[in-house]
Amino acid sequence: MSEERSSLSSLSRRGFLAAAGLGTATAVFAPRLLFAQETGIVPTMINAAARAKIDVQPLRRAISVLEGSGGNIAVLTGKGGKLLIDSGFTVSRARIAVALDNLSSDPITQLINTHWHVDHTDGNAWVHSAGATITAHENTKKRLSTSTRVEGWSYTFPPAPAGAIPTTVFDDEHHVHHNDTRIALKYYGPAHTDSDISVLFEEADIIHVGDTWWNGFYPFIDYSTRGSIDGMIRATERNLTTVTDKMIIVPGHGPVGNKAGLTEYRDMLVAIRHKVAELKKQGKSLSGTIAAKPTAAYDAKWGQFLMTPAIFTGLVYSGV
Ligand SMILES: [Zn+2]
Repeated sequence: MSEERSSLSSLSRRGFLAAAGLGTATAVFAPRLLFAQETGIVPTMINAAARAKIDVQPLRRAISVLEGSGGNIAVLTGKGGKLLIDSGFTVSRARIAVALDNLSSDPITQLINTHWHVDHTDGNAWVHSAGATITAHENTKKRLSTSTRVEGWSYTFPPAPAGAIPTTVFDDEHHVHHNDTRIALKYYGPAHTDSDISVLFEEADIIHVGDTWWNGFYPFIDYSTRGSIDGMIRATERNLTTVTDKMIIVPGHGPVGNKAGLTEYRDMLVAIRHKVAELKKQGKSLSGTIAAKPTAAYDAKWGQFLMTPAIFTGLVYSGV
């Protein structure tokens, strides 16, 4: 991850130059454009995915995780066809397809989305065209079906194409039996968005918790679609009551982890929420709160990815 992270901005610059057909000489005279490009989180994520190699990590039984295209993709292989959790970015299609072929020759038959965000659903259309039916929380269908603004990303997403829309949706809980594996899907309630679910592979004791956990990074919280810091903390508390010490936990972003790592993350969220709330109660503005550095004790470990200490402080401030 660290290698990938350190190269994010240069990847994004190369992606921009390639897309715009500009050479470096021209780029020198276009600093504003470059700046805008590099601070846009969505283009940064897409450009990183366009360059990243797909890492495949076998977990337990027939379940693996693919890292490198937006959110972590979990894959269950078997005679009934592959079941995917999340679909990454479309720009990674060729490399994801190769990684999937290397796992087994089974076709893709099922896709489950952990939530509606583009870095987890952009590949839905091609995965569906490859043969998958798509299952998700009803709010994932709702958000993908219409134009949706995410203020925190300064980005408005158009409606997703018809093939990308989930056709099996649920409200609270849903169960899937696939390749002799029981899979339990549960809605968190509003947390990171209003569409987040956990996906538990019961026999393998592996849970995908979507973007309720960014392992090793301050998480994004999407207030535009009803996420909040308190919802994130509630979801994390629920994860902690669900998971055991032996369970493998697949986060939305970052390396596969365990209960100890998730506990540390909960403690970080709770501590920063407390500090930011105190500062806001004292009457501090957002900029005053950021200047007081309420995240300082955590920045070396958690503040080195897309969500900088200042951005994350702002996300917490919005919700206390
Ligand atoms: Zn997300």
